[in-house]
Amino acid sequence: MSATKRKAADIVVPVEDENDLLKITPLGAGREVGRSCIVLQYKGKTIMLDCGLHAGRSGQGSLPYFDEIDPSTVDVLLVTHFHTDHAAAVPFYLEKTSFKGRTFMTRPTKGVFRWLATDYIRVTNTSNAEASALYTEADLISAHAKIEEIDIHQQMEINGIKFTAFNAGHVLGAAMFLIEIAGVKVLYTGDYSREEDRHLVPAENPGVAVNVLITESTYGVQSHQPRVERENAFLKQVRDIVRRRGCCLMPVTALGRTQELLLILEDHWGRNMRELENVPIFFISSLGKRGMYLYEAYIMHMNQRIQRQFNRTGNNPFDFKYIKTRTNLAGIPEMGPCVVLASPGMLQSGISRQLLERWAPRPENGLIITGYSVEGTLARTIVNEPESFPALAGGSVARRMTVKNISFSAHVDYTQNSTFIDELRAPYVVLVHGEANAMLNLRANLLDKYRDSDYEVQIFAPHNIDTVRLHFHGEKMARVMGSLASKVPREGEWAAGILVEKDFNYTLVNPADLQEFTAVAPVVIEQQLRVPYASTFTLLRHHLEQMFGRLELAKEVSNVGKTHILRIYDSIEVMHFSWKQHIEVEWQSNAMNDMVADSVIAVILNIESSPASVKLTQGICNHSHSHSDSGTEKGSSDQDKVTEQKLPKSPKSETDSKPVIVPEDEHGHGHGHGLVAEREIVTRAGGSTEVAAKIAAFMQNQFELVEISDDNKLVTVRLGNATASVNACSMAVESENPLLRSRVSTIVARVHRTLGSFSHRSEPLPEPEPEPEPEGPKDKQVTDINGLATGDQSGAGEPEDDDNEKDIDIKIDVDSEDEDEDDDEDDSLSDSDSIASDQDAPDPPPQTGATDDVSA
Ligand SMILES: [Zn+2]
Ligand SMILES: [Zn+2]
Repeated sequence: MSATKRKAADIVVPVEDENDLLKITPLGAGREVGRSCIVLQYKGKTIMLDCGLHAGRSGQGSLPYFDEIDPSTVDVLLVTHFHTDHAAAVPFYLEKTSFKGRTFMTRPTKGVFRWLATDYIRVTNTSNAEASALYTEADLISAHAKIEEIDIHQQMEINGIKFTAFNAGHVLGAAMFLIEIAGVKVLYTGDYSREEDRHLVPAENPGVAVNVLITESTYGVQSHQPRVERENAFLKQVRDIVRRRGCCLMPVTALGRTQELLLILEDHWGRNMRELENVPIFFISSLGKRGMYLYEAYIMHMNQRIQRQFNRTGNNPFDFKYIKTRTNLAGIPEMGPCVVLASPGMLQSGISRQLLERWAPRPENGLIITGYSVEGTLARTIVNEPESFPALAGGSVARRMTVKNISFSAHVDYTQNSTFIDELRAPYVVLVHGEANAMLNLRANLLDKYRDSDYEVQIFAPHNIDTVRLHFHGEKMARVMGSLASKVPREGEWAAGILVEKDFNYTLVNPADLQEFTAVAPVVIEQQLRVPYASTFTLLRHHLEQMFGRLELAKEVSNVGKTHILRIYDSIEVMHFSWKQHIEVEWQSNAMNDMVADSVIAVILNIESSPASVKLTQGICNHSHSHSDSGTEKGSSDQDKVTEQKLPKSPKSETDSKPVIVPEDEHGHGHGHGLVAEREIVTRAGGSTEVAAKIAAFMQNQFELVEISDDNKLVTVRLGNATASVNACSMAVESENPLLRSRVSTIVARVHRTLGSFSHRSEPLPEPEPEPEPEGPKDKQVTDINGLATGDQSGAGEPEDDDNEKDIDIKIDVDSEDEDEDDDEDDSLSDSDSIASDQDAPDPPPQTGATDDVSA
């Protein structure tokens, strides 16, 4: 092959995915005739073509190499025709393996196959115990019910595998299959014949460009006699035998080419009645008359000639006048002249074998082999006219009868096959269903023929289980549908839409047209996320507005509490419930919204641990007005205890810390509408006052003397002679004593940690209406470290939605634009205030009593 010829094949395209390779593996019919079974694999799909048994072998040995492919991976089994070597393993494959795909045959194939398989079971069970049938009648019935029918020219599509049946000639119902996967087209001819005979439609050209042709090569480079010559030679042979008063034996299959022979003989007897009147002609078939009716049922699948004959006379052309149908040997003469057609065709056993053994010794008798004789069968060896052959019962039988081989097997010969290959011009041709010599001769001949032509072709003749691997770098084409297709884009213009792939077909559509033009229904994913959050809405809003600017607000009030809904960029809703420990964030999922939602959630998660929150909160909400609990005994006695508090020195003492009294902030502030004033506090004090107070509270547990400087920025502690100071703004620790400095630093670090985490425990209470505002600025700067500390330690054991009393931190009011807002703030402030004062208790409140304490 010249360099230019091989150009296409020589281009090496790297194969990224094994699925991009089209793999063709004969499990049978690779350099043999018999047990046809070819597997195609491409793009994750697996198709089995034919499923036959080898007539020259027996039992399991007659099966194709099924073990090579996991049967459960086979999507579709397509059976071309009913012959044993193409269909007889179907019941085995369907009933005895893990195959769970779908099986297709044409209607006549399915109908005839049923009876041929019955015959196979009967013959194998009776003739040869060793080679008992691979399946039972029950298996056959079960398998037969699973087989689906496909009409000639009908296109089916299963999971992205498209296939169409075309006439193949050969026998009644025989089909070729055109298979298309992901745009790659493969034509499998099965057994085919392009010659019009007495009853069949010849094979047709599908008329599409195929990438791969898998064709039979039974007759290799042989050429058939023209049909008329062949018929004449055949009839002459029959006449010769009966003229010498011999018995003429023709081993045939019950259905198939036999019907063509019967048509020929019937016609000949009719025209030569004078000569042949007294020569009986028998067709012995286990099906008896059933075969005749089966063929009548499928007349519409035959050619025009036979249909016309049927329509003209109204008679079944297979209801023969001269040929007598029998089911057994009863009435068959011992001596000629007579003509007998009997199954099986390969003479392995059964009636044809019995008659052969009976008639072989006499020279006036004659044997005519009319089909293709499979290697390994007696039909094949006897053509060589041996002196004797083995008898089924043992011993041997002398052969003196004449033997002629005149094939009516209706396979393409070299001329038909190569003409068909010429017409299709598939770049790849895979030969199957041919013995090695026939196949290799055919390949050599074809390659020779195309060597100097413009048809570049690669021809394969694989052995069984040898895989032909072909790489198709498929061009992907997308159909543009719907509104996108209303304007034809010009060169260089873009068309943007959603690309939908289904079964290797691509469709580009506008998202709005999805439902109409594809099988895809658009789905909107609604995201809803719960983010733990127990602080006030105001704090939440403040932080979110810092990030996203002014936010739209909706508010709902129900029996259980208040719901605030903030809308961010019109796409994310943040819902704060006054009675819940979490925030709900909702949005319609898409790339943009998901991103915004991510940052919203990040903001929320950081609010409670943000020092800014603490500072803001502390700066504002240090009022200790005890309106909710001032009337209770506990509240007032707690206050007293605070001052008396002496500090245990246990290592845990800082976190067990007790309330301390710190200097009152200079600005007492009222409630509700005093929000602006609170804001100012934050600004002026920068929160350092409160931080200083907290630090002081922690230090109180550890050191004898704790002082807070006038400007509330410096906390000084004394231990013996040494002093250390903590800057409440910078958290810097200074001391001339390194040990003390180290110890104080540790405490400061702990304070820092605690401040960062305690706010988790806080929670707005379920809507106790604010009690009337106590008169006057009696707020005290009580820093409820207790609350936070106990919360941290005991929180684990507390029921989640216990009203707990640690609400300390979240009391900033950033801004309030409306009256409702203010009311809200009142609520939260009063809640926390009530808690705060409750928290003045020196000991952590008992867990079970916590709720009572608060709500009392
Ligand atoms: Zn066949
Ligand atoms: Zn075949």
